[in-house]
Amino acid sequence: MDIMERIKGAWKVCVILLLLGGITEIFASELPLLVGSPDSKLRVNFFIEQGCAFYNVTKNNKIVIDKSMLGFKFRNIPALDCNFILESSKSDSLNQTWEQPWGEKRFITNHYNELKVYLKQKDSLQRTLVVTFRVFNDGIGFRYQFPKQKNLDSLIISDEETEFNMTAMHNAWWIPVHSENSFYESLYRHTPLNKIDTANTPITIETKDGLCFTIHEANLTDYASMTLLRTDSLRFKCELVPWSNGDKVYGKAPFATPWRTLIIADNPGDLITSHLMLNLNDTCKLDDLSWIKPKKYIGIWWALHQGKYTWESGPKHGATTENTKMYIDFASEHNMKGVLVEGWNLSWGKDKKDDTLISFLKAYPDFDMGEICRYAKTKGVTLIGHNETFGGVSNYENQIDSAFRMYEMLGIDAVKTGYVSKYLDGKEWHDSQFGVRHYRKVIETAAKYHIMIDNHEPVKPTGISRTFPNLMTQEGARGQEFDAWSRDGGNPPSHTTILPFTRMLAGPMDFTFGTFNFENINNPKTRVQTTLAKQLALYVVIYSPLQMASDLPENYSGNKAFQFIADVPCDWEDTKVLNAAIGKYVTIARKDRNSDDWYLGSITNEEARTLKVPLLFLDQGKKYTAEIYKDGDDANWKMNPTSVNIERFQVDVNTKLEMKMASGGGFAVRFTSDIK
Ligand code: CA
Repeated sequence: MDIMERIKGAWKVCVILLLLGGITEIFASELPLLVGSPDSKLRVNFFIEQGCAFYNVTKNNKIVIDKSMLGFKFRNIPALDCNFILESSKSDSLNQTWEQPWGEKRFITNHYNELKVYLKQKDSLQRTLVVTFRVFNDGIGFRYQFPKQKNLDSLIISDEETEFNMTAMHNAWWIPVHSENSFYESLYRHTPLNKIDTANTPITIETKDGLCFTIHEANLTDYASMTLLRTDSLRFKCELVPWSNGDKVYGKAPFATPWRTLIIADNPGDLITSHLMLNLNDTCKLDDLSWIKPKKYIGIWWALHQGKYTWESGPKHGATTENTKMYIDFASEHNMKGVLVEGWNLSWGKDKKDDTLISFLKAYPDFDMGEICRYAKTKGVTLIGHNETFGGVSNYENQIDSAFRMYEMLGIDAVKTGYVSKYLDGKEWHDSQFGVRHYRKVIETAAKYHIMIDNHEPVKPTGISRTFPNLMTQEGARGQEFDAWSRDGGNPPSHTTILPFTRMLAGPMDFTFGTFNFENINNPKTRVQTTLAKQLALYVVIYSPLQMASDLPENYSGNKAFQFIADVPCDWEDTKVLNAAIGKYVTIARKDRNSDDWYLGSITNEEARTLKVPLLFLDQGKKYTAEIYKDGDDANWKMNPTSVNIERFQVDVNTKLEMKMASGGGFAVRFTSDIK
C-alpha cells in the first residue's frame, strides 16, 4: 500500500472515532506519527492497530520495511505487546559534527530527526513503554526504553517481538546463527530471503531496484544480541540469543535496549560510508585518549598456523625471547610499532589439563617478558599481549585486573583476546547477555590500565568504539587464519568483496592479511586465495586501526612490494568508495590522517576485470606521484599469485587510471603529494 493511502486510511479511522465521540487519546493513537530524514527521503511511520504498535519505513515514498510489530514478552509477567494507547509523543532533532580519535573518517556528521512515542497499556497495570526513532539521511535506528514505574521493576525478557517485514523476495548476503560456529566465522550466503532460516546481523539486502539496506544493531550494552528468525516468507523477527536456561535478558527499569538499525543506501558504496553505527552510540566515556594509538604490527602467529612453531613449550616453541627480539628488530626497521606473541603463557597444548589453569600472568621459562619489554622499548616497539581464554570467562575475570596491571607496568599497551570454544564457561553463547557483559568488562578494565583491545571470537561489533575508543578492532568473521587450515580450502576470492558490505559495516576487523608466501606445507590443499597485489590492496579496503602484517619476516625480506605495507597508514582523515558491486569488486580511496597522501585499494573476486578509476578525490591543482602495485600480466591467484608490477608516475585530479586485475587480484596505490 502506498504511504499516502495509509495516511488517508488512518484519517478515516480517526474521523469515525471522532463521530463516535472518541477522546483525544484515541485520536492521537490512531494517527500514524511520521518522522522524516533531514533530506525528507526516508520516513518512519508509527501507528497502533487494535492496541498493537507497528512501524514501517519508506524511501522516496516506497516502502522498504512494511508494517512490522513492536513489543515484548516476559517470563512470569504479562506481555508489553498489546492494549497500547499513545500517551504522548515528542519530536527532536540534532545536527552536529564530532571528531573521531581514530577511524576511517575524522569528522562525522550526526544529523537526524527524532520521534519519541510514549505508550501506555490500557489495563489495570497501566505499564508504559517508550519507543524512540531516529531518522538520518543514511538510515534509521529505533530503541525501546522501559521507564521507571510502579508496576514494572525487575523483568526477564523471554521474547523481543520486533519485526522486519520485507516487501518482496529480495536477495540477501547473510550468515547463519550458531549452526557452524558461535563467533560468526562463516562464509556469506547470497540467496533469496526465503532461503534464510536464521541470520546474524549485519545482514545486507539488495532489492531489484538496486536499493541496498543493512539490518544490524547499535550500542549492544547489557542485553542479548539480536539475530533474525524468518517467521514467514518475507517476515523476519528479532530472535534474542538466550542464556543457557532459555531466558533472554535480565533487566531492571529504567533501562534501554540497543538500537535496531537499518542503513539504507541507493548503491552499495554508500553503505560503506554510512556512520549510523557510531552516531547511535554514546559519546566517549574516556577522558585521556593520549595512549590510544593506531598501529601496524607483526607477530609470532602465521608461523604457528603453518607448523613452523608451536604455541606450547617444546623444541619448536615460538614464543622465545630470541624469536621475539628478532621480530622486534624487523618491526622497528619497517615502520611497525607492535609485535604480537601467541603462546607465551602457561599452559597451552599438551601442558594444558584444564582451561581454568590458563595463566595470564605467568610466562613459559624461555620467554623473559621483562627483558623483551625492555628491549622493545629501546627499539620504539611495544609488545602486544595475547590472552587466549578458550572460553574460560570466570578464570579470565579472576586474573584480569592483576594481569592488565602487570602489562601496563611492562609497557604493554594492547592485548589480543581470544575465546576459541563453542560456549563461554562451558554453557553460555558468546553473543548472549552473559557474553555481552563479559566483553564489556574486559574493555572497561583495559581502559583503566591504558590497554587497547583486539578482540577475537567476539560478540559482533555495534559501534561501541565511539564510547570506548580502546576497543580498537575485532574478529567476528572468517579471517585469514582460515587460509592456513580450513578443510574447505580457505576463503574464496569473493569473500573479501562481500565483507565491506556486511561485517565491516559493524566496525573494524582484524583480518590479518599480508601473505607473500602462498605455500602451505602443513595443509597443501588450503591456501590464501588471492594474488599478492590483492593482499596489499586489502590494507586499504578492510579497515582496522590495529593492522597486521601476518607473514614471516623472512618472507618479506628483500621483496620490494613490502614497501607498501611499511608505508600504508591505519588511521584516516577521509574515505571515498569509488566503485562497488557486492561480491564482485570494490575500490576505496582513503586519505592519511597525518599527511597529504592518499592510498587506494581495489579488489576483485574470482573474475579478472579492468576498472576505470578517476582520481577526482585528489586536490585540485596538485601533482602527485602514484606508486602502483598491480597484478603482473601473468598473475592469477591459483597458478601465479606472486607476480606483481610496481610502477611510478605523475598524476593529478584529471587522471583516469585504467587498471587490470587478475582472477582473485587487485591493486594498491600510494599517492604522494609532490609539494611538501
Ligand atoms: Ca578466530
